Amino acid sequence: MEIRATTKIYGIFGHPVGHSLSPVMHNSAFSALGLDCVYVAFDVSPEEIGKAADAVRTLGISGINITIPHKEIIIPHLDEIAPEAELTGAVNTLKNDGGKLSGHNTDVGGFLRAAREELGIEPEGASVFLAGAGGAARAVMSAFCMNGARNICIANRTHDKALRLASEFGERFRDIKIESVKLDDVKAIEACLGKADILVNSTSSGMNGNEGLDLPLNKMRKTSAVYDLVYKPRETRLVKEARGLGLRASGGLGMLLYQGALSFEIWTGREAPVDVMRKALG
Ligand code: NAP
Repeated sequence: MEIRATTKIYGIFGHPVGHSLSPVMHNSAFSALGLDCVYVAFDVSPEEIGKAADAVRTLGISGINITIPHKEIIIPHLDEIAPEAELTGAVNTLKNDGGKLSGHNTDVGGFLRAAREELGIEPEGASVFLAGAGGAARAVMSAFCMNGARNICIANRTHDKALRLASEFGERFRDIKIESVKLDDVKAIEACLGKADILVNSTSSGMNGNEGLDLPLNKMRKTSAVYDLVYKPRETRLVKEARGLGLRASGGLGMLLYQGALSFEIWTGREAPVDVMRKALG
C-alpha cells in the first residue's frame, strides 16, 4: 500500500482501540480492490469525542467506525442519523460527505446477514430468546423488531435493564410480544427457550477465559439455532454446547465481518470483498 497526497483516510475511534481487528480487515479490502484509501486506529478519550468529530470535518477524514465507549455519545455531534441507528441509540459508522456527518449502525445489518447466512434464520415471524440488555442487545433488538419478529424474550443479569429494554421496544413495536425474564428464573427461561427459533447471546459472558452463561439448551427444539455475539474464542462454551446437542450454532465473527462489509459499502459504494476481509480476520 502506497500512501499518496490523494489517499483517503478512514479509521476507528475507540478507547482502548489497540486490540481492534478493523484496521487489518479494511486495509485488506482497500488493497484487494486497489482503492487509494487507508484505515487507521485513533484512541480517543470520551471527553474529546466532540473535538474528534470536528477533526473529521476539518481534516476531511472520509469515514470512521465508532466503538466502545463512543457509540452513543457521538450522536449529538452528527448532522444526521439513519433510522436503524436512531432506534438502536448507537452509531458504529460515520460517513463524511463534504463536512456533513451521517451516522449509521451496521451492527444491525451485520447481525442479520450473519444469522441468515450462517444459521438460515429469517427475522420475520421469528421467536427469539435474547440474553443481555447492553449496547449489542439493542442492535439485535432493532434487527428483529424492524424486520417483523413474532416474539422476543429478554433475559439479563441485571433484570431492571431487561425490563426497560422490553418496555422501550414494546411501546414502539406493539405487534411484537416483547417480555423480560430473570436470568435465574429457570422455569421462565425454559419456557422461552422451548419456543425459541433462535437464542442470541449478546452478553460479554464467555469472552476469553470467562466461562459463559448456563442456559438449559436441552429445552430448545432441534430445529432451533444459537448465535453467540462473542467471537473470542472462536468457539465459545455456549456454541460448543449447542453443537453438541445437534443445534445449529455460530460465534460472532460473521457479525464482525458483515458489519465491516456494510461500513465499507456505505463509504465506498463498492461491494465489499468479504472473502478477503474474512481471511484478514484470521
Ligand atoms: P455492554 O453494553 O457492556 O453489555 C454487556 C452485557 O453483558 C450486559 O447485558 C451485562 O449484564 C452482560 N454481562 C456481562 N458480564 C456478564 C456475566 N458474567 N454474566 C451475565 N451477564 C453478563 O457490552 P456490549 O457492547 O453489549 O457487548 C456485549 C458483547 O457483545 C461483547 O462481548 C462484545 O464483544 C460483543 N459484540 C460483538 C459484536 C460482533 O460483531 N460480533 C458486536 C457488538 C458486540 P448487566 O447488565 O447485568 O451488567
